[in-house]
Amino acid sequence: MAKLDAEILDQILTTLREYAEKNLPSAKLLEIELGHEFPEKIMKDLYDPQQIGLHLLTIPEELGGLGGGAFDIYRVSEEMAAIDLGIATGVLATFLGTDPINVGATKEQKAEWLGELAEKGQFYAYGATEPQAGSDLGALSTTATPVEKDGKVVGYRINGRKQWISNGGVADRYTILANAPGGASWFLVDKGTEGFSHGKPEDKHGIRASNTAALFLENVYVPADRLIGLVEGKGLAQAQAVFGYTRLMVACFGLGAGWDAVRRAIRYSQERVQGGGPLSQKQGYTHKLIVPNAVRLEASRAYIEWVAERLDSGEEDLATEGAVAKYLATEAGNKGAEDAIQAHGGYGYTREYMVEKIKRDVRITTIYEGTSEIMEWTIARDRWQQHLKTRGQYYVDWAIRAEQRHAQSPNVGAGHAALALRALAALLERARLDRLTRNQHVLFRLGELIAYAETAAMFAERAASKPTKESGLKPETLQAMARVHAREAAFKVASEGLRWAVGAGQTDPGLARALNLDAAIAAQAGLIEDMDRIAADLNAAFPAK
Ligand SMILES: Cc1cc2nc3c(=O)[nH]c(=O)nc-3n(C[C@H](O)[C@H](O)[C@H](O)COP(=O)(O)OP(=O)(O)OC[C@H]3O[C@@H](n4cnc5c(N)ncnc54)[C@H](O)[C@@H]3O)c2cc1C
Repeated sequence: MAKLDAEILDQILTTLREYAEKNLPSAKLLEIELGHEFPEKIMKDLYDPQQIGLHLLTIPEELGGLGGGAFDIYRVSEEMAAIDLGIATGVLATFLGTDPINVGATKEQKAEWLGELAEKGQFYAYGATEPQAGSDLGALSTTATPVEKDGKVVGYRINGRKQWISNGGVADRYTILANAPGGASWFLVDKGTEGFSHGKPEDKHGIRASNTAALFLENVYVPADRLIGLVEGKGLAQAQAVFGYTRLMVACFGLGAGWDAVRRAIRYSQERVQGGGPLSQKQGYTHKLIVPNAVRLEASRAYIEWVAERLDSGEEDLATEGAVAKYLATEAGNKGAEDAIQAHGGYGYTREYMVEKIKRDVRITTIYEGTSEIMEWTIARDRWQQHLKTRGQYYVDWAIRAEQRHAQSPNVGAGHAALALRALAALLERARLDRLTRNQHVLFRLGELIAYAETAAMFAERAASKPTKESGLKPETLQAMARVHAREAAFKVASEGLRWAVGAGQTDPGLARALNLDAAIAAQAGLIEDMDRIAADLNAAFPAK
């Protein structure tokens, strides 16, 4: 599968960083935000092959692109989000808009449309959501009516309305989901096509540098060869197929924006003296506002890297893993930014210190590309099936792997992660026996607990076997973080699992024992010491400038 050479990826990231340092200082980003205008010149620069050529990233080399893969998308998305999430969203919209083509178009269509994109650097938009069809795309009401000539379909007339479309008012090309007689299908529609118009830009809470607009389609005619893949009825499956990638990309947005806020708080805390010393030296501050956020963000990174590597090795059907990555990383990014405001005190509440803007920006990541609740549901539903299919072995097997890892590397929290996984297996089984998932809330809470247990296992595994270089943290810091995250997961699955199971009327008087709550509590030994170490390491890794 596609993957850039490490030097080329480094070059792109360095160019992106240098471009941002030169052209996008904080004052400029705040000015763009206040004007609420689409920064067309900046987007054109980002797409200009002489400068960065971001749109080329995922286009295959034979069509004039760079042929990048999921790992490259991860690194670029994280970097862009740390610069400005609004601008990152504008770029995402083009990746998103071309995804139905990537997964569903015929070879000839790909050659033509992606080739044109490589050459011209067009802006794309992805038109799925409608006023009445958000999380539930099945409620789609836009229609594509075939136009026939001599008994043959020569085109379609599209009618309907799309809502909240990124790049909606500025794109050159749009992929539009509409109901054809054979079912939901994607169509490629060009700007300026008769009957096709857009609303004014939405006045948004954050990502104000991105353009979001409604689309109106009134009898818009497209020739039959604008049906992506040339077969009707594949639209929802194609939308599903792109989720592995696009949710990973939004996960990276949560990671990049969240880390940007946390890094700012770490640096600020070293210079801000209160109560006789810098805030960075005060446990009551670091262990509440900094360390837990850095830990969750790095747990998300470990999982993101794992998913990206699997996508790059050609695996498909990673929508559940994409959902876990998106869920944890965007919730962690959101919380990290929220706490960064608190960490800056009154200064954090003003625009000048940027964390206020980052908080508003990162808020969108738990909403678009599937809300956090839809992620919880997706994760729980899919893993529930695995639990049933394997007769309860799915997480037991994973726990055994974590225990083996613990035997080899006792310092990465794999033993705690195994506790979380075993508790999860017991909880799912209890839910099956007592039919607890009849309660939607229990099912969704299971989604959250699964995300914690899986990320704990993966963080421990990678901290032992493949500590990431991308975070700028030492392997020992990552190991301490993996231990802290695994402890949280073990305690969360056992205690919250028990809470919701009892709350929903479970029948086993020994459930606390089955979930091994005592062991999850005992696993907390050493927690504060690890947090002390992480706080010190973060201060060393991100010194005040
Ligand atoms: C700035 C911005 C940019 C966007 N860009 C694009 C784009 O480029 N292309 C595009 O197609 N779309 C885009 N979207 C749309 C976005 O993906 C949707 O807003 C999102 O999927 C949620 O849909 P909705 O807004 O209709 O909310 P709803 O689906 O109405 O959800 C409302 C609330 O109910 C919860 N909920 C929904 N269903 C259930 C359920 N079954 N059980 C329990 N809880 C549930 C949700 O989690 C949420 O909290 C964008 C949105 C925004 C705000």
